[in-house]
Amino acid sequence: MDRKDFLVKTAVCGAAWAVAASPLKLFGAPAPAAKAKSPELKLSFQEGIAPGDSLEAKLDFMENLGIQGLEPGGGGLASRVSDLTAKLSGRNIKISAICAGFSGFLLAEDAAVRKQCIDSMTEILAAAGELGAAGVILVPAFNSQKPVLPHTPETRAFLVEELHELGEIAAKYHTTVILEPLNRREAHYLRQVADAASLCRDAQSAGMACMGDFWHMTAEETSDYGAFFSGGPYLKHVHVASRRNRIMPGEDGEADNYIDGFRALKAMNYDGYVSFECGTRGNRAETVTAAVNLLRKQWAEAKA
Ligand code: MG
Repeated sequence: MDRKDFLVKTAVCGAAWAVAASPLKLFGAPAPAAKAKSPELKLSFQEGIAPGDSLEAKLDFMENLGIQGLEPGGGGLASRVSDLTAKLSGRNIKISAICAGFSGFLLAEDAAVRKQCIDSMTEILAAAGELGAAGVILVPAFNSQKPVLPHTPETRAFLVEELHELGEIAAKYHTTVILEPLNRREAHYLRQVADAASLCRDAQSAGMACMGDFWHMTAEETSDYGAFFSGGPYLKHVHVASRRNRIMPGEDGEADNYIDGFRALKAMNYDGYVSFECGTRGNRAETVTAAVNLLRKQWAEAKA
């Protein structure tokens, strides 16, 4: 037994002895509350992940694999609420989050384009609330979206005001706006989880949240653990993909290690979903199944 093992074992034994010998215990008082259970890994798929010609076939495949969440796109979501509700009825799969689907963008120079974003987000948020989604994923500006407001402190302050407004709309519908940091090739404006979390904090709205995407984090973060932890109470969603080519976890071999990030999620008692957002180069039914098994194995290995 090395020193660490010895300390752990004596600490555990010591605690057991203290409970057994406690006068309170002897006189029938309730035992101390059990330590919080380690959070479970709740996996979710975007609609393109599972094989199948129809949503029903995809949901059957997901249910067989024990997948608990579905992340639909936000485009036209309002018209899909009743259909999605019916198809999920009686299944052990819930809507995890809604992936974007809005038009316009929040950091547009043109006020009309910003209004388009707020209006379309409002419609998606209402549908997301009806579906019980954790939130609707939002990117303030992709690199391709122009003309864009300059990347200055004044623009950041303006963004915080816009996020407050959107967050309040989300809260009204019992859901959230989930800020997603992307890698610099897609959106240099918001790249790190800590930055997204600080925007949520400053927006001062219960309807603002953030997420981390392992794919983007590979390029932008120096620590998976540090990145997720920096999300703090605002972290409501996670995306996963392989780490070199954005295909199924495991298809990039040894590079596909998620344990450090999973350690943080466990330490934080994260109760949201880890949702697949990726392609594949192999047989979909096989690569998806292998990816799910890999993530479950790594989750079990991760020590908070
Ligand atoms: Mg993503």
